[in-house]
Amino acid sequence: MAQKNNAQSKPIKDVLDKLSVEELDIAGKRVFIRADFNVPLDDNLKITDDKRIRSTLPTINYAIDEGAKVILASHLGRPKGRPDPRYSLAPVAKRLQRLLNTEVLFAADCIGPHVEGVVSKMKAGDVLLLENLRYHVGEETNDEDFAESLSRLADCFINDAFGTAHRLHASIVGITKYLPSAAGFLMKKEIEHLKGVVTNPVRPFVAILGGAKVSGKIGVLEHLEDKVEKVLIGGGMAFTFIKAMGYEVGDSLVESDMLDTAQRIRKKLKSAGIKFYLPVDCVIAQTLEPGAETKIVPTLEIPKGWRALDIGPATVKLFSIALANAKTILWNGPMGVFEIDAFSRGTFAIAHSVADAYALTVVGGGDTDLAVHRAGVSDAVSFISTGGGASLQLLEGKELPGIAALTDKKT
Ligand code: AMP
Repeated sequence: MAQKNNAQSKPIKDVLDKLSVEELDIAGKRVFIRADFNVPLDDNLKITDDKRIRSTLPTINYAIDEGAKVILASHLGRPKGRPDPRYSLAPVAKRLQRLLNTEVLFAADCIGPHVEGVVSKMKAGDVLLLENLRYHVGEETNDEDFAESLSRLADCFINDAFGTAHRLHASIVGITKYLPSAAGFLMKKEIEHLKGVVTNPVRPFVAILGGAKVSGKIGVLEHLEDKVEKVLIGGGMAFTFIKAMGYEVGDSLVESDMLDTAQRIRKKLKSAGIKFYLPVDCVIAQTLEPGAETKIVPTLEIPKGWRALDIGPATVKLFSIALANAKTILWNGPMGVFEIDAFSRGTFAIAHSVADAYALTVVGGGDTDLAVHRAGVSDAVSFISTGGGASLQLLEGKELPGIAALTDKKT
């Protein structure tokens, strides 16, 4: 989440009407911080990417510096409501200890008399990580008793788990009934950027949408309808739009049940005066095999038996020119099957165009985040969201349960 200062932007409007961490008096208090430590682990339970842990460090360090007793909680994987060592947060405790350079206590459960005993002995500045919240069924069912048991550990609640803010779970929503509840720094930054970009964009505002399916991005397209100047569509979803216009797309990905919707949206955007760009050429192959023969063809000339798996060089040029005068760019979804080298060039080229733009650039969605990192330009975009589903829902203009549940800011 590097910040760059070259954007000619107005300050992001104060879009958070909820308490934030600096507005809580936490000195000497027991502070329950809900984090998203759902990190990827290899077969030996070693963490392969600790970005999610690092994203929450500003909130944790702030709480330590303020002299709070810091109680951290998260889910990891899907242990189905019972203890399962494969999903233990113990490796996270070890990594946190290294990142914070301070002792991190680890409790073998997240509720109950034993944990309450450990908490009662904590001193100002101590850090405790609780075991996986999803070892209890009550977490995902937002069970009131479970939420109340969690709340008993603390005097106040801070939610920094943006990636889980769209879930109606006990440690996200239920607990807020019992404790003053505020947004952590990561949560605040996510809301300010994602909500800010769609409520108060500096114009021209260009949205780039990609990824596999139209169905996953329809909500965003509908919400952006009266906000953007241009929409650039890449990835598999482009071919549902092209097919809906009456063209053949070979064996490219098409969602047959979305053809009417795609046509309706395209016409609606057009009549609203929004420029709607689709790929003019693409990289095609007969299979997804890494060594498969590939060709570059105009989009309207994809033969039967071949499928489009990336945007072509003419589209990269077209999209890059269309981006050149943007002052705000929102990018969600890759331009092709970027996981495979032969189909990654379009996505990486667009990543460079976005990074080079003299604009506020906001990148959302797990895949796009990965693409920007692989392209080596993550430091040159203004903001990369840590949330997949949660960021999409915010961009769709929906209220996230985890944000709605926080204590209202005093006016
Ligand atoms: P989404 O989760 O909808 O953002 O989709 C991301 C996935 O879309 C990535 O894993 C890409 O491999 C895939 N994808 C992108 N372009 C295409 C395409 N032209 N055909 C099939 N899959 C694609």
